[in-house]
Amino acid sequence: MFRYFENLIDPYCEYTQTDTPSTTLWPFLRGYCRPFYGVLVLMTVTEISIAALELGVIFGVGWFVDVIQTTPNLIVDYAVPGLIALAVFYLLIRPVLFGLNILLFNQTLDANSTMLVRWRAYRQVLRHSVGSFENDFAGRISNRVMETPSSISHVLGQVFGGLSYAIAFVFGALLMLLQTDARLILPLLVWLLLYSLLMRWTIRRVAKASAARSALNGRIIDGDTNIHSVKMFAHDKAEIGYVKQGMETARAAFFQVNRLVSKMEITLCLLNGLLMVTIVGGAVIVWLDNRVQVGSVVAATLLVLRINSMSDWVIHLITGIFRALGRVSEGMETIAQPVTLVDAPKAKPLQVPQAKIEICELSHHYGRDRGGLDRLNLIVQPGEKIGLVGRSGAGKSTLLKLLLRFYDVEAGKILIDGQDIAKVTQDSLRAQIGMVQQDSSLLHRSVRDNIRYGRQNATQAEIFAASKQAVAHDFIVDLKDLDGNSGYDALVGEHGVKLSGGERQRISLARVILKNAPILLLDEATSALDRGLEAEILNTLYGMMQGKTVIAIAHRLSTIARMDRIIVMDNGSIVEKGPHQALLAQNGLYATFWARQSGGFIDIKAVI
Ligand code: ATP
Repeated sequence: MFRYFENLIDPYCEYTQTDTPSTTLWPFLRGYCRPFYGVLVLMTVTEISIAALELGVIFGVGWFVDVIQTTPNLIVDYAVPGLIALAVFYLLIRPVLFGLNILLFNQTLDANSTMLVRWRAYRQVLRHSVGSFENDFAGRISNRVMETPSSISHVLGQVFGGLSYAIAFVFGALLMLLQTDARLILPLLVWLLLYSLLMRWTIRRVAKASAARSALNGRIIDGDTNIHSVKMFAHDKAEIGYVKQGMETARAAFFQVNRLVSKMEITLCLLNGLLMVTIVGGAVIVWLDNRVQVGSVVAATLLVLRINSMSDWVIHLITGIFRALGRVSEGMETIAQPVTLVDAPKAKPLQVPQAKIEICELSHHYGRDRGGLDRLNLIVQPGEKIGLVGRSGAGKSTLLKLLLRFYDVEAGKILIDGQDIAKVTQDSLRAQIGMVQQDSSLLHRSVRDNIRYGRQNATQAEIFAASKQAVAHDFIVDLKDLDGNSGYDALVGEHGVKLSGGERQRISLARVILKNAPILLLDEATSALDRGLEAEILNTLYGMMQGKTVIAIAHRLSTIARMDRIIVMDNGSIVEKGPHQALLAQNGLYATFWARQSGGFIDIKAVI
């Protein structure tokens, strides 16, 4: 039975992904709720039925009291059917309705809606450009992908569960009182008005506390994710003080909220007392007037007692709903961001028969007026090997990122074998480019999985061969992680932290070897290696470069002196180009770099 309800909804069902998700709350929620419409309707129906039956019981008790009072001789005739009806209701109908409601919520809605939203939100977030990720905190993005779905599930459960029951109950109570004596609904209406005002007052103020909580979260995440800096500068105490400050703000907000809650609960207690006195008093007065029988007074009393016990719970329920909606709105800032970097309509896969790269009038300033690249022109012939040098911040990495279309260029274009990279599919573009980065962060998976990232269907033998070529095989077979996995099965830690920089770089190299793409981009691919290893790997790299078009950034000029051509960049433009010897003869910027590195062996960053 549990399985039946658990499988009623498939959280991974097909849906249309949109590039521009709604940024307003209700349409945003509606999109995720669609698969659950049937479940939500059924939950509402069961809640309304439970409320109606409970009101029926209260009404029945009143009627029973009237029978006792007016026709006691008939009591025996009514007692047995009455008790049977009560037993049927409490032992059969109510448990069935309640059980159905609980199964629909716990088994069908709760887990599946959380997973459905998480699945869709994750897929949506992954479509965002590298730029969007750089503009947000990594911890915050994943936090929102994890937390927003459970808040949405909470809202759905509470609105279509508890709240629909409460509304149905109060509505039914109004009808019951109207039937007893129309004047009795007046106190309930006044109470409802005051209750709504109290609720509004509470919700508005309580929502502010969530903001203080998330600010505190931010401070804790910031310290934890930058633990190296914290430890390196021995700033543990300062960090603790910084978080304590955040905690104090959160505590003050907490106090404020709890004061509000206390004020609300005391006021509600008074309001409920007022409701009790006015309705029970009113019922007694109309009974004294002989307009109703004593059973109606009993029913009205039971009704007010039930409303009293519900009222506090409903305020907390609605406050909880609004708090959760606040978290959903926060999550929308990340999840509902439009996907700006998309494939052009009718984009075709990139075809690379030759791997010629043409860069025309390329400008990209990251949305600012300076920095990045400025009207850059460059043609890289098929199979040509280009070395890219320049001061820090000259725009070298920006050029490589634009070649991979991590950002859309602000002006100009990049053509590969005559095809504008903005007009081909992104997947096909990136499939044709292999890149080894300076900061080669790895996925927290096994070494094998990390290398296989280069080509998912690579065989074991191909993985070994690539690792050997990248001079990585020998250290990989000696690896062992804390869970007892060894060699290629050892886990590399988050971002590969359990490996040295050089080991990480060699694993990245192995996966690019496996990828075997016709265009190769190297961004300081050997910067983390010692000289001996670098010489060994350079041989591998030069071997890999055969038949490929290559652009390699290096600060250590010795690593690129053998390239066909060297491009010198400054302030986002090309200032010199030519082979190594020709550039030295020019006696320009490159010659200065070379001289300062005493023949290419001093890091130019250190001396410029
Ligand atoms: P380095 O040798 O230090 O790696 P680089 O030549 O590769 O430097 P880039 O990383 O391309 O330089 O940076 C060029 C300019 O663009 C710099 O002024 C940098 O501040 C800016 N920049 C780089 N990335 C971004 C970004 N994501 N958002 C905004 N500006 C950026």
